[in-house]
Amino acid sequence: MLTFWFKIPLWQRVIGALILGIITGFLWGPEAESIKWIGDFFIKSIKMLVVPLIFFSLVAGIAAIGNIRKLGSVGGRAMLLFIITGQIAAWLGLALGSLVKPGAGVVVDAIEKGETPKPNNTSAVDMILSIVPDSPVQVMADVNVLPLIVFALLIGIGILMAKEDGKPLAKIFDSGAIVMQKVTLIVMELTPFGVFALMAWVAGVLGMDALQSLAWLVGLNYFGCLLIILVVYSSMIKFLAKLPVIDFFRGIVDAMVVSYSTASSNATIPVTLKCTQRNLGVSQSVSSFVVSLGATINMNGTAMYLGLATLFGAQIFGVDLSWGDYLMITITSTLGAIGAAGIPGAGLIMMALVFGSVGVPLETIAFVAGVDRIMDMMRTTTNVSGDAAVATTVAVMTGEIDTAEMISADDI
Ligand code: ASP
Repeated sequence: MLTFWFKIPLWQRVIGALILGIITGFLWGPEAESIKWIGDFFIKSIKMLVVPLIFFSLVAGIAAIGNIRKLGSVGGRAMLLFIITGQIAAWLGLALGSLVKPGAGVVVDAIEKGETPKPNNTSAVDMILSIVPDSPVQVMADVNVLPLIVFALLIGIGILMAKEDGKPLAKIFDSGAIVMQKVTLIVMELTPFGVFALMAWVAGVLGMDALQSLAWLVGLNYFGCLLIILVVYSSMIKFLAKLPVIDFFRGIVDAMVVSYSTASSNATIPVTLKCTQRNLGVSQSVSSFVVSLGATINMNGTAMYLGLATLFGAQIFGVDLSWGDYLMITITSTLGAIGAAGIPGAGLIMMALVFGSVGVPLETIAFVAGVDRIMDMMRTTTNVSGDAAVATTVAVMTGEIDTAEMISADDI
């Protein structure tokens, strides 16, 4: 029995669990919440890996890059791709929102209001200050990914600068990174159970009713995210990376399913790293760098959604928007997506930033809050797929990929 279970490739077990979870949720209804703890157990287990994995892999990865100039070329390319795709996503959200007008026919009274989350302190200065850790130990304890990346980057650069004297420390981080990859493989075996429970919970609690009144918004959110994944990322892989698109997606199935069910880019980092390294052959140095950074700042699904939701709010409340406002929305949506943490519901909090910039009432947040989770799952999948696509493309551009590994993606 056990051998039979392990004989099925993990990604197939995970997809099966996803489908079974949805069916169970619909049949069982809100009671399905009683098994949510299994999903929480799974999320806690992968979250436990995030800090040591980023820390060991990123430092080891940077040390392995060998020199600071090459680090700059990897970082520069990744940032460029992050920004271009983020802008495309935000404009796509606006285009869908203005063409389909999802808010035009909405009867506001029919929507059950959720809670309006308190907006974060999101001034530009606060955002810049939050990048620098007060104390490295504190950011590790708080699982605060962006300052942790900054700290790991600095240690990696320090190792490169120390040359021979840095080598013993680089070796320790190398060994730590390998051990953490093994621990990740153990934890990944929980995925089918976690995914099953989380999907049953979402499908059971939200059901079809909640979706009906906001169907257009939810539908457009899925459509926009699919366009980003199928058109933008596929083109990036086909034309920039010049790799087979199908093999790319087959290689990241686990990361897509885990991001979908957990709605957290951060919690998915260990899985995204495993997929890009083991299934796609991206070098450890490039994948650790791009995936860790991407999980916090590269959120195209979120950028698209922020643009779309702003138009939705403007349409519900009859706010007229000028071309200048549109430009403002794309800028604040991209910034909001960069500032959003890779955790469930982060995009919802960032709405305050975008809405405030063009005078759309914050009340809109309460209207969409009830169905945010179901949209969050899809935008997180988009965000995580984008991290993998950029990591793969940058790896190809800098000669940091072993494509022989990618071809053998079947035997994941
Ligand atoms: N949950 C998303 C993520 O982790 C962020 C968001 O809420 O849009 O990528």
